[in-house]
Amino acid sequence: MAGRKEKNNTKKCPLCGGRMSDGMTVAPFFINDRVIVIKDVPAEVCGDCGEAYMKSRVVDRIEALLDRLEDLHSEVSIVHYKAA
Ligand SMILES: [Zn+2]
Repeated sequence: MAGRKEKNNTKKCPLCGGRMSDGMTVAPFFINDRVIVIKDVPAEVCGDCGEAYMKSRVVDRIEALLDRLEDLHSEVSIVHYKAA
């Protein structure tokens, strides 16, 4: 699976057809009774409706991050994507 490339072309928002551009988003996750907020997540963000889409490698990293955060026992965790 090495060498898989992601297209960086301008995409259209599946929701509203607006233009997507690279940006950052905040991704909240609700796991059981806990809230984990990941800030500064790289994503493609729609310029019209603000919907954000994460790339698959970003999602993979977030899943690994959530696994680690499950060991913490705080009800609310706020982490930065890059620092984690
Ligand atoms: Zn949109």
